[in-house]
Formats: sequence, structure tokens, C-alpha cells
Amino acid sequence: MDYKQAIKRIIERRNSDLAEAHALFISLMRNNEVFRTAELAFRRAELDFLHGKTSQEDLDEKRKTRDNVVARLGLYDKLNPPFRCKICSDTGRTKNGICTCAKQLAHESKSDLSQFPLLTFDDFDITLYPEEVHQLVLKTAAELKTIALKGNTSKRKNINLIGAPGTGKTFLASCFASDCAEKGKSVIMLTAFSFVDRALKYHTTFDENKAEYLSPLLETDVLIIDDLGTESVFKNVTLEYLYHVINERQLKGLTTVITSNLSVDAIAKRYGERIASRLFDKKLCYTREFTFSDIRKIKVND
Ligand SMILES: [Zn+2]
Repeated sequence: MDYKQAIKRIIERRNSDLAEAHALFISLMRNNEVFRTAELAFRRAELDFLHGKTSQEDLDEKRKTRDNVVARLGLYDKLNPPFRCKICSDTGRTKNGICTCAKQLAHESKSDLSQFPLLTFDDFDITLYPEEVHQLVLKTAAELKTIALKGNTSKRKNINLIGAPGTGKTFLASCFASDCAEKGKSVIMLTAFSFVDRALKYHTTFDENKAEYLSPLLETDVLIIDDLGTESVFKNVTLEYLYHVINERQLKGLTTVITSNLSVDAIAKRYGERIASRLFDKKLCYTREFTFSDIRKIKVND
């Protein structure tokens, strides 16, 4: 889905919310005596007020009575559907251009986000970790939360969560993704495998739509590449596009998160100095290496 389609979809969604509200209203007028009486009394008061036959207080009173009926039915939001996006009032645009909600929708359709559990730092259960690492893991969670909170103003543009399988790296990355999305950032989370798949498609496509494979990865506010090191290395593709994306994003000041089972040294060896120096640049990066073993195993052994 491109931005234009996303905006169209957002407007359609708003219209469908309003159509549903209208259908509910009609049905209440037909079938709910209490609602109909209150609604008609309010409308009469509105007309009377216009003709100077009744007071503002009477009109307010009648409105309140009607709203109370709706509230008792638990239908207020259904009859008055709130905007899904308060920034653009579901128009998909702001005076500065395309709204974040439209970008997010367009990116989501290209993201593997649905494969990942949408967890928040509130879901975080430290008791799953061995006690000796509690302090380190809590510190990491708090630091990630701070980076998410600071958004674009954070100096840390690259986040590397490194450690053996089952140390909760993807979990922390998901929490980070949720926090950023909640703050209105567009987020793409995909596996290293999907990343390479896209790079390959981009590399081997020769029509005007090829940009669709890569440009969301260059534009999204937050990009999370999960499980780096498990993908295939294709000549002229994997390393080249990985460098291109990481470098471009760093230049634009956008946040990129990498999780990997490989150690920092192994990453440098596999991807080369050029990529490693971008990923692990001390001034721009946050790197956490977990050295404890699989928390899932620990739990099972208990
Ligand atoms: Zn919006």
C-alpha cells in the first residue's frame, strides 16, 4: 500500500464509522422508546430555542437527558465515533503533509509486525530471567524506554541487542517498537530474512514499482531488523543493501534496531568493517550484549 492508498483507506474507514453510527441512530429511533422520546424532546427544544421560545438552560437540560440515555445504553462512542487519529481527524493529512497515521498504515502493510507479539514494557516480566541478570535487564529496559521517549532527539540512533537465542532480545525490541508507535512514530519490524528478501526483489525488479521494496525501510521512523545473522548472504545484495539502509538511516537521523545472536566481533567478521563501524559507532549507538543463556530453557528446567 502506498501513501495515497493509505489516505484513501483512512477516509473510507472514517466514513464507515460514521455510516455505522447513523445506522445505529436509525435503529434506536425505531426501536428504543426512551431514546426516541429524549431525542425528539431535544430536537424540539433546539427549534424552540432558535425561535426564542425557550432558554439555553432548557436546551442544555434536554441535551443532557438525551446524552444520559445514550450513556446508560453504553453507546456514546458508537453514536459519536471518536477520530481514530486525533492529529489529522482521520483525513490522513496535516498542514505539513501526510499524517503519521497514513504513513504507519502504509508501512504496516509492508511490515512483518503482525508476526511479532505487540508487547509493551508493562508486559515485562523480570522473574523470567535468572536473578543475577535482573539488574542488567531492567537497566536495559529502562534505557530503551528513555530512547523511545526522546524519539528523534535521542543521540542513540542505532540500537544493537546482542545475545544467545532466548535472552529476550526480540521481546525488548518489540516493547521498544510499541513505545515508539504509541508516540506516533512509524515502525517497521521485520526479520533479517525478510530484509534480504526485499533487497533481492528490489535488486532484480526493473519496473517503476521497485522502490516500494526499499523506500519504506529508508523512510520509516523506526526500523527493527530481527535476528541478523540468520539470513543468507547473497553476493552484491545482502551486504550492499544492509550498508545502504543503515548508512542512509543514520544520515537522516532515523532509529534502527538490530537484534542478533552473533557477538559484536562475529558481526564485524560477517558483515565487514564498513557495516560494523556504522552499527557500533560509539557516539550514535546503544549496544547491549547479553551473555547469559536461554531464559526459556531456564524456566523449563525449573
Ligand atoms: Zn492522522
